[in-house]
Amino acid sequence: MDKHISFGQFNNVFKILSKSTDDYLFILDLIEDHYNITDRAAEVFLLEKPDFYNASDVINNCVYPNDRDIFNKNLELVRTGMIEQHDLEYRWLNKNGNPVWISSRGQVIFNDDGKAQYLVGRISELGRKNKIDNITGLYREIRLRQDILNIDRTFAGSGFLLLIGVDNFKDINERYSKETGNETLNGLARCIVKTVMDKAKVYRMSGDEIVVFCKNLDSIQCDPAEAMYKNIKAAVDKHIGEKYYKLFYTISGGYAYFTQEEEIDLKLIEKAEFALRLAKINGKNMCVCYDENKYNEYVHKLEIQEALRKSVENNFEGFELYYQPIVNMEKACIYGAEALLRWKNGELMISPGVFIPLLEESGLIIPVGRWIIGEAMRKCMEWQEKCPYFRVNINISFVQIKKSNVISDIDLFIEKYGIGSDNVLFEITESGELDSGYATQNILESFHSRSLNLAIDDFGTGYSNLRYIKEMMFNLVKIDQAFIKGIKTNHYDYMVVKQFTELAHSLNLMVCYEGVETEEDFKCVRELKPDYVQGFYFSRAVPAKEFEEKYLGKENIF
Ligand code: C2E
Ligand code: MG
Ligand code: MG
Repeated sequence: MDKHISFGQFNNVFKILSKSTDDYLFILDLIEDHYNITDRAAEVFLLEKPDFYNASDVINNCVYPNDRDIFNKNLELVRTGMIEQHDLEYRWLNKNGNPVWISSRGQVIFNDDGKAQYLVGRISELGRKNKIDNITGLYREIRLRQDILNIDRTFAGSGFLLLIGVDNFKDINERYSKETGNETLNGLARCIVKTVMDKAKVYRMSGDEIVVFCKNLDSIQCDPAEAMYKNIKAAVDKHIGEKYYKLFYTISGGYAYFTQEEEIDLKLIEKAEFALRLAKINGKNMCVCYDENKYNEYVHKLEIQEALRKSVENNFEGFELYYQPIVNMEKACIYGAEALLRWKNGELMISPGVFIPLLEESGLIIPVGRWIIGEAMRKCMEWQEKCPYFRVNINISFVQIKKSNVISDIDLFIEKYGIGSDNVLFEITESGELDSGYATQNILESFHSRSLNLAIDDFGTGYSNLRYIKEMMFNLVKIDQAFIKGIKTNHYDYMVVKQFTELAHSLNLMVCYEGVETEEDFKCVRELKPDYVQGFYFSRAVPAKEFEEKYLGKENIF
């Protein structure tokens, strides 16, 4: 300190300067062990007040336990005058006890006796400047973005971005604690930094993801990113084995390369993210390289999903119900119809095989399914005037059953349109998704208690199980068209359909065959005595108006 300024004057200057910066200014009197820091620091960090004696102990308590060693060593060098400049990045604890990365820099001032008297400097919160992540001490994503954009292509070679994610990270957080989750991430970050050394830069992304950005590679032959993942994995396994065997976890990786000739942009992050997604979807604990074709498929899928969302928002514009006749074999008449959803994306008709799974995945099947129930029942009411026994079959997705109150939707429309319980039937596709668990059972029981008919759709392809039919209380089994296609030529299919039809009848279940396409098919299935038949032989699904004109109440059809 300048000899011509008194300590009081100095303190005033200090206070004025404190107000003009986001940083925290401090003076540590090394001999008196007295500390004075910007007032605001005592509001943020684990300090009771901004100036205090017994500084070494008080500050030590405010330092994140893992960093106390390096802090104390540095302070010792300062105190003994071994270093004149103090420059350290480490963590302090904030008022909630959470670690905050800080950069602390200062200058040692010696007294007339040549002893280190003061350390004067400033502390800045690294996180505040969006640079460093508090948990791992790594640069944040924002810095990665800057580094990608600033890459100098004249000098840089090829490279890759490798994204590493902790598998089932949510479970670690939930089963143990957030702190355990943070320690896991910190451990992973250390393993990665140790493995990568100076070959690449490491950054923390959001959530449980850490990214390795490697540039200046001479070549990308021999898959250096995959090799890097394997080395990191080995380091993580060793780390867990040494320390956290109780908290075993695995990691997945996704990576994308860029070559010397390419311009690189922020899409690189999206590509690696997409590859990591695939690694997780495909079973985790593996590493996947970015694949352009798969990515385009995925983007296309997102576009369709977006268009579906818009259709729903625009009052279901583009959606329409078609009706496929269902033939009652005993009465040789068109007894009813299955309502089948159609969707036009602009001028383009998209197959239900494509858009129904997307509606299910996005949950949009819930509002769309509600709309279908309303539309189909409205038509049913209209058509009953001409044909009192007319029955509409409505497909219900497992998503509607599991995630919405489909029964109350049904109740509402049945009441609104005055539909008899025998004039409507609900088809549910058999799938592993619909277990015979308590909740599902409850909902299906609600159908039963309202005397609503239930059919199991596409029987024989998925989760075929006779107990399932009994427990789920179905009234009708729709045998999948794959079997019906086979019965003329394949003895096995023929016997399965024949025996199953007899078995179902003996259990008081009705049977419908789907996919009867030709006269030959029809002749063949007729012998097996199903209750209902459906297929292109009679008609494809057609718009409501066409159904009404051509098929409604039609009798003597064979
Ligand atoms: P699904 O419920 O088994 O419907 C029968 C499918 O077989 C319909 O296909 C129908 O057009 C087709 N089909 C009928 N007869 C024949 C035939 O003789 N030969 C052949 N090759 N095919 C025939 P679509 O309309 O493409 O629907 C496919 C699937 O999409 C449906 O299978 C159903 O699982 C689902 N789906 C359709 N509409 C809806 C709906 O409104 N809600 C729900 N949740 N799913 C629906
Ligand atoms: Mg169906
Ligand atoms: Mg079917």
